[in-house]
Amino acid sequence: MFNPNQRARMLKKKLMRDNRYLLAKIGGAGQDPGERKVLTDYFRYKDYTDGSEWLKASEKEKWSDKFLGLGKDGFKKTEFQNPTYSAAYNLRRNLAEFSKVFTMQVAGCNYSCNYCFVPRKLNSADERYGRFFSAKEIVEEFLRIKKDSKEPMNVIRISGGECMIIPEIIIGVYNEIMKRSEDSYLWIDTNLSAIEIMEKEKNELEKVLSQKNVGVVGCFKGTTKEDFSLITGAEEKFYKNQFEATKFLIDLGTDFYAYIPAYIYEEKMAEEKLESFLFKLQKISRNLPLKLEVLKAEDFPAAKINFELAKKEGRTIPKTHQGYIFDLWHNKLLPKYYSEEELKKFCCEIRL
Ligand code: SF4
Repeated sequence: MFNPNQRARMLKKKLMRDNRYLLAKIGGAGQDPGERKVLTDYFRYKDYTDGSEWLKASEKEKWSDKFLGLGKDGFKKTEFQNPTYSAAYNLRRNLAEFSKVFTMQVAGCNYSCNYCFVPRKLNSADERYGRFFSAKEIVEEFLRIKKDSKEPMNVIRISGGECMIIPEIIIGVYNEIMKRSEDSYLWIDTNLSAIEIMEKEKNELEKVLSQKNVGVVGCFKGTTKEDFSLITGAEEKFYKNQFEATKFLIDLGTDFYAYIPAYIYEEKMAEEKLESFLFKLQKISRNLPLKLEVLKAEDFPAAKINFELAKKEGRTIPKTHQGYIFDLWHNKLLPKYYSEEELKKFCCEIRL
């Protein structure tokens, strides 16, 4: 098992050069679902709400419980509500304006998650699998592609990899957006590991993350330190980083969301583990569990390769059925601690 802080420091040196940032070359890399939605070699799009039922629904229906909770298959009806909903809610605009999300991946990650759908080479900060872009070039690419897009495209998403290893990219891209396209929304994905680096950039990050056209989602890995280590390959003692990073971001005034892949080892212990995880979130903020989405991990082509690599390291993926975790969270635990009225809200309507 490795030290993710050390890895982050090492990756940072390779991911930045002369105010330019190394982005992963997604095109042709065998990454799915990215493969299907590639815009150029370095940018793809994601439509968070691509179900045809959602697209046909009226604005009022889209904001109704028709799209909340679990579907007949036991998984979430809208796979993942944000950033479409958070942007529309915070900027008081229509949801359709935000369903197509321009996405880039920072080409390095300090975890090696066993379920990750990004090929490991794209997360290795290796120039052979990426290219350096300045913040200005990134926003120019966004504007060029947006101009030709049939659907509205108003969200820029910085994903990874882990972008908080180089928070400079977030600050740079936000400042460019405000110069060139201030009606856009910035969405950040983070694995909540790089708290040391985030603290060093506290002041600059605060200026950006406290704005209403910015949202952050933090991905928790595992409900216990043991599960965390099996999933990520990092030492158990770094499990707590995620909670510290979450508190740090919320204290900055960030519109913060969370998710956790539906991976829990030992089915018999799943309820107990999930409940104690819920208590940890409540300790940071009572309503935080209401802003957490359980994520279904899928066996995309690169994920299958990553499962096998992790297996060789003794880190198989859990056998617990993912639908069972959704059921526990939505039908048992949340109703135990929150009122019906609270459960009828979308994540973006919840205040921390
Ligand atoms: S799942 Fe996310 S945090 Fe984990 S290795 Fe992949 S990119 Fe990194």
